[in-house]
Amino acid sequence: MYRLVCVHCAATYAPEEIIYTCARCGHLLAAEYDLETLDVSRETWNRRPLAVWRYRELLPVRGGPVTLQEGGTPLYRLTRIGEELGLSGLYAKHEGMNPTGSFKDRGMTVGVSMARELGMRSVACASTGNTSASLAAYAAAAGIPCVVLLPAGKVALGKVAQALMHGAQVISIRGNFDRALEMVHELCVSHGLYLLNSVNPYRLEGQKTIGFEVIDQLGGEAPDRMVLPVGNAGNISAVHKGLRELTALGFVDRMPMMTGVQAEGSRPVVNAVEQNLPELIPEPNPETVATAIRIGAPVNAEKALAAIRTTGGTAISVTDDEILAMQRDLARKEGIGVEPASAASVAGVRKLIDAGVIDRDEQVVCVVTGHLLKDPETVVRQCKPPLEIDADLQSLLSALRL
Ligand SMILES: *Cc1c(COP(=O)(O)O)cnc(C)c1O
Ligand SMILES: [Zn+2]
Repeated sequence: MYRLVCVHCAATYAPEEIIYTCARCGHLLAAEYDLETLDVSRETWNRRPLAVWRYRELLPVRGGPVTLQEGGTPLYRLTRIGEELGLSGLYAKHEGMNPTGSFKDRGMTVGVSMARELGMRSVACASTGNTSASLAAYAAAAGIPCVVLLPAGKVALGKVAQALMHGAQVISIRGNFDRALEMVHELCVSHGLYLLNSVNPYRLEGQKTIGFEVIDQLGGEAPDRMVLPVGNAGNISAVHKGLRELTALGFVDRMPMMTGVQAEGSRPVVNAVEQNLPELIPEPNPETVATAIRIGAPVNAEKALAAIRTTGGTAISVTDDEILAMQRDLARKEGIGVEPASAASVAGVRKLIDAGVIDRDEQVVCVVTGHLLKDPETVVRQCKPPLEIDADLQSLLSALRL
């Protein structure tokens, strides 16, 4: 019981149409459910394990899903970092604990299931890394071929390793992510591959379950604020959409302030929020150590700006040094290993506390999006290599600081 609706002009399309943008105005489409007639209750959800498919009534797939058991990720309370910031209600939702190590798996379980239901024979994406790792794994699980386009030299090692090992056709283009997305979109439309970037409305349906799980993990209450790193702005839009659905169903009584964090060298959404621009001005040369958010022309910006503005949220940028410092803090003070883009969300909170934007009595949930092992090169560059010693106890004792 849903249809595809243009987020801009409200034109509607049947769910079985293979379409990514509105035929009338060119903007993106979103799945809209008839919430009044939906047979859904919290009790039914609560009987199922915490996972993406717990919420299947609010997902588009009707048959059996292509699943690797995604979702159900931990929500950690950040006690030490929270204490330093004077914020006792600070949490991190660790999306690095998904099957391929990022939240992209939530989108791909739904997106690849839909590819199969729609009768598509192959899938494709452009990627800063995690989308390709995830799509390659879900295509393998579905038994269909997969093509991924990467910006040459700008993808973290662990992510390329995954895409290759899961058997995708991996192509590096001499250009950035934004160009790779344009190319793969053209390829899919002209050659009938199914496009699984965040322009795909069904992928975002899966990702909205991050918000559902947070509510359930907080005992049925919405936090005051949700903070997400923003690249293509699909995830912040997806979480916002899901929480609006829960509000419409009467399952939660308020919306969290949606807050986006970008890197200093790639901050078109932050500029649009700060300058109150109606539309975003793309950054032609995005640059940051956080390669997962190295995106200059976020395709979901229209939805993300609405999410931020209508909930009284905000957007802020952080420097690469601030990102890496928070990556180390999460690892060393909390035991939580994340990749740089993920640390951006918590680094953004630190900055917003200092700026007096976040109140110290707020309950704040940061989405930490991907696992530490995704980008081992950036880790090794920050840490001293292990000390190599002779294999005797004397050498060990003189090497250790005890
Ligand atoms: C994809 C990704 C992001 C950015 O999400 P968008 O939906 O593109 O805004 C952030 N962090 C990680 C680790 C990612 O893989
Ligand atoms: Zn339209």
